[in-house]
Amino acid sequence: MKDNEKKPTFLENVDMMVNDTITKINIDSNIAKILKTCRSVLQVKFPVKIKNQIEIFHGWRAVHSTHRLPVKGGLRFSTNVNQEEVEALASLMTFKCAVVDVPFGGAKGGLLIDPKKYLLALWDPIDGEVDPSGVTYAFAKAAKTFGGKYYTNTLVTDTKQKNDGTWNVITDKGNINAEIVINAGGLWAREVGQMAGIHLPVQPMEHHYLITEAIPEIEAMGEGKRLPVGTDFEGNIYFRQEGKGMLLGTYEQKSTPWKVEGTPMNFGHELLEPKLDNIQDRLAIGFKRMPALEKAGIKNIVNGPFTFGPDGSPLIGPVPGLKNYWVAVGVMAGFCQGGGVGKCIAEWIIDGEPSIDVWAMDVARFGNYASPQYGTIKSSENYERRFIMTFPNETLPKGRKQKTTALYDRFISKGAVMGDSFGLESVLWFANDPKDAYEEPTIKRSRSHDYVSKEVKNVRENVGVTEIANFSKHEFQGPDARKFLDYVLAGRIPKPGRICLNPMLTPKGKLYGDLTVACLNENKFIKFLRHHNYFTKCKNTF
Ligand SMILES: Cc1cc2nc3c(=O)[nH]c(=O)nc-3n(C[C@H](O)[C@H](O)[C@H](O)COP(=O)(O)OP(=O)(O)OC[C@H]3O[C@@H](n4cnc5c(N)ncnc54)[C@H](O)[C@@H]3O)c2cc1C
Repeated sequence: MKDNEKKPTFLENVDMMVNDTITKINIDSNIAKILKTCRSVLQVKFPVKIKNQIEIFHGWRAVHSTHRLPVKGGLRFSTNVNQEEVEALASLMTFKCAVVDVPFGGAKGGLLIDPKKYLLALWDPIDGEVDPSGVTYAFAKAAKTFGGKYYTNTLVTDTKQKNDGTWNVITDKGNINAEIVINAGGLWAREVGQMAGIHLPVQPMEHHYLITEAIPEIEAMGEGKRLPVGTDFEGNIYFRQEGKGMLLGTYEQKSTPWKVEGTPMNFGHELLEPKLDNIQDRLAIGFKRMPALEKAGIKNIVNGPFTFGPDGSPLIGPVPGLKNYWVAVGVMAGFCQGGGVGKCIAEWIIDGEPSIDVWAMDVARFGNYASPQYGTIKSSENYERRFIMTFPNETLPKGRKQKTTALYDRFISKGAVMGDSFGLESVLWFANDPKDAYEEPTIKRSRSHDYVSKEVKNVRENVGVTEIANFSKHEFQGPDARKFLDYVLAGRIPKPGRICLNPMLTPKGKLYGDLTVACLNENKFIKFLRHHNYFTKCKNTF
């Protein structure tokens, strides 16, 4: 745009986008973008007319060539985060996002929000909605076209591993022998896992949204026009158009774990009794911020369960220690995350490793300490924090102290700030004393900086000791120990009496982990690695 050209206001921008809702979209490129967002907090939903339009080629590529999708885009509103922080977040998004001012309101085609309540917003042009059932069947149909088989109304009653490592999947209609089993049991993931003797730390949580009666502003927009979807993180609400009314949802501040003892096999996705008391405060915020909603009557209140993992992310991949048994569970935002999870698992099985680093979703990031009870406590914590940002230097309080070392009390008395490392409490840094031992969540330089800098200087000029209880330690000994390590590690193996960092690569050359290797003598080595289970995972590749 030239300098003297008048920039369209945000309202004009929104209007242009809303008016231009019928856009021809090549899903080939857009699906890729959607998949890239799978680890972000976005809801990805598109209204799709499902009629043979999704075809799967070579396992995954979804290509849309003939149908038109109304893409509305989405806005994430901010009431208190400044532009710098929003821009920092926007830069993390892998698709085009723009930070926009908020001089817009309930005008025609615009949003129904009260602009005075917000500072700015993040505009995501490819946000939208889908019809979940239609999309699921489109993918199933596409899979069938390429030789896949699926059986509806078929209950899996057991999974039994045979001596050859394959699995017998026992159903009410007969047995299927499978080389690999993937537990994608959703609400029943725990029950399906128990059939194979594993206890997954996932927990269904109750979730509410309401749908309003028709809203005059939306009726006035005319056919074929849609409002962008919206998320208000600080208000803890999300909203989108539903027919001629609006849908307003919230992640309750006090979560309600559902069926802690297990999901009944005969549960048929019936809706649960709404608990208005749990959502009233958030609805009040929503009504204040979108006055049109308060005037409209409430048509329906929905309460339904969906499954969370301990840190809010899915648990996917091969289960350590159980051959040929995979999981894709705790997928809490099925349409935001489902495509990416499916793609990664397919790549992992077919190519031996996913094309992106999936450690944040890898089931191996949890060990035996992550019991079902732990899953309930942590999943509740994450549900309540669904729209709350967790900062890089922030440690969450629930489900802590699964394991401590003998030095724990002494560290605390010396002002240690503790973190959780694979269930073990370990020192992150030392403050001056216990009272001073706290962190302030930030995306900037944290208050630990000066303390750590003193520690570093001290170690450099004097001597330091570090506790490495949170590292896995493996000893390799024998005449071929050096040869073996040289084969599995990419760096130079140290000489006797020396220690060094050494990367381990995946078969495709990606970084698997950064290990510390010490050579005690020519036939004896020790390796240290921070994530215990990661090495178990690495070992599977030997
Ligand atoms: C009120 C509400 C609103 C939501 N809003 C959104 C949203 O806006 N965006 C979004 O992305 N997500 C949303 N979700 C979440 C979304 O529905 C879930 O994330 C998604 O359904 C999870 O998919 P899944 O395939 O992992 O599990 P599920 O949908 O639970 O599917 C599991 C499947 O496994 C089958 N199964 C289980 N056990 C057995 C067995 N023993 N034998 C045979 N089959 C078995 C089940 O029949 C089922 O078909 C919402 C959920 C609720 C309740």
